[in-house]
Amino acid sequence: MANTEKINLLNLNRTGLEGFFVELGEKPFRSKQLLQWVHQRGVTDFTQMTDMSKSLRETLGQKACIEFPRIIDIQQSKDGTRKWLLSVDGAENAIECVLIPEKSRTTLCISSQVGCTLNCSFCSTGKQGFNRNLNTAEIIAQLHLAHHSLLRDGNARGITNVVMMGMGEPLMNFDAVMAAVDLMCDDYAYALSKRRVTISTAGVVPAIEKLRRTTDVSLAISLHAPNDALREKLVPINRKYPIRELLNACRSYIDGYKSRRITFEYVMLKGVNDGIEHARELVKQIGDIPCKLNLIPFNSYPHAIYQCSDKETIDRFREYVSSKGIFTVTRRARGEDIDAACGQLVGQFKDRSRRSQKYQLSLSEIGRVSHAH
Ligand code: SAH
Repeated sequence: MANTEKINLLNLNRTGLEGFFVELGEKPFRSKQLLQWVHQRGVTDFTQMTDMSKSLRETLGQKACIEFPRIIDIQQSKDGTRKWLLSVDGAENAIECVLIPEKSRTTLCISSQVGCTLNCSFCSTGKQGFNRNLNTAEIIAQLHLAHHSLLRDGNARGITNVVMMGMGEPLMNFDAVMAAVDLMCDDYAYALSKRRVTISTAGVVPAIEKLRRTTDVSLAISLHAPNDALREKLVPINRKYPIRELLNACRSYIDGYKSRRITFEYVMLKGVNDGIEHARELVKQIGDIPCKLNLIPFNSYPHAIYQCSDKETIDRFREYVSSKGIFTVTRRARGEDIDAACGQLVGQFKDRSRRSQKYQLSLSEIGRVSHAH
């Protein structure tokens, strides 16, 4: 039987797996065993799952598979950042995930869609248009690949934090993302605490409300501007869900959680949103919300219409907002030499001018024709 007719068990969270095993006439607890084999031990060959009967292993081999996106390329930055380029259905659709090692944690930045529909004016992912949603298997596979590559390297801690800040808008792919989050937090899979899983959104307000009813993972909001007129230009979805509605959704998201804070992301664009007047307006908007502010120096890419604010301007902005009691950090750009920084993902894949020699090689090795424009 071809793999396409088999069910890819990477698509199933614990509840889904329980249903699958019960349908086979097995006990629900098989789902825990399977999760441990696949996600904790990294074993994807059913014949090696020795705590299951031989006949069950054979049935699994006939009816199911564990299928990953194909690795096209892995790049390692000077600063330790590592980036995977993965192909999902052929050379046209590629996604990336980025591993960011730090002293006290190792974060994986995961993609949720191929491309993005939101078309934020400063983001290169939007420029490539939208192709499709990723399924749960393709989302959790990113964590599986990165985590087990760390374990193989002798890094016993593995991935400690996940941020849904790669390509795509996670809240526009709600169900697949939530099933993947279930796996991230499942004790029998990656056992990450919900605090260590962050969903970042450009502000899909109804989906934030749905998220609040579903889970309590950490929430990051790509705010980027302190008023609607400016935000509409940077983040077009603001026309549908203006700042006031967005911030109200944030207030209710953490309502009732004492120690919870919203993370606001704010990309620093020279002469656009980086003045003291913007900082002042921003404080008025978010000052009452338990939050922290991440200032993201703009990462450039070919044909970008913005520039990054000067360091002094960013410092001044940060000092002003901090002086008003908002915990503010400037995010250090990581993995710039391999185009792994925020907003740079897969720019390279689509843009002939930046495609490296190495990358062309890896494409020709897999015998695919590129369609750069
Ligand atoms: N769609 C989600 C998650 C993906 S983007 C969201 O909007 O939150 C992750 C973060 O990187 C967002 O805050 C996004 O606005 C920011 N970003 C996008 N392009 C960038 C660029 N060129 N430089 C710096 N940050 C960028």
